[in-house]
Amino acid sequence: MPAKMRAAIFVEPGRIVLDEKPIPEIGPLDALIRITTTTICGTDIHIMKGEYPVEPGLTIGHEPVGVIEKLGSMVKGYEEGQRVIAGAIMPSGHSNASLYGFHSQCGAGTAHGWKALGGWRIGNTQDGAQADYLLVPDAMANLAPFPIWGHSIPILNGGTGF
Ligand SMILES: [Zn+2]
Repeated sequence: MPAKMRAAIFVEPGRIVLDEKPIPEIGPLDALIRITTTTICGTDIHIMKGEYPVEPGLTIGHEPVGVIEKLGSMVKGYEEGQRVIAGAIMPSGHSNASLYGFHSQCGAGTAHGWKALGGWRIGNTQDGAQADYLLVPDAMANLAPFPIWGHSIPILNGGTGF
């Protein structure tokens, strides 16, 4: 696997560039997804126009479909090579807020377990899906198997033959 990947990076209002970044390292609860399909959301247009602030250097994009490239050692229920989708909010699944079902207020790492996430995480406060690879933290809380409708649907896979 190459050490670098392509990513759509926010530089400043009016400027998003395709550049290289290191492929993310994963921890024991995480997954690395090879992105096969993603899209541009209206929110990305607001980011481009400077109407929604994100940090310069952030990879944008929060609609990932892909294939699991690497799985953390503690992730159960998924396997490398599996086709998956990932949610944009990216809660931990194990904070007090998550355990009560308030995933958008997941406060993992805080003393009480509650904190406003700011709506969603990837492409907002953490590198997003418009890249070759995406780090999915706490993979068991944030992945779902890609739905199968009984036939292969090559038009949805970005032409990769999956
Ligand atoms: Zn969106």
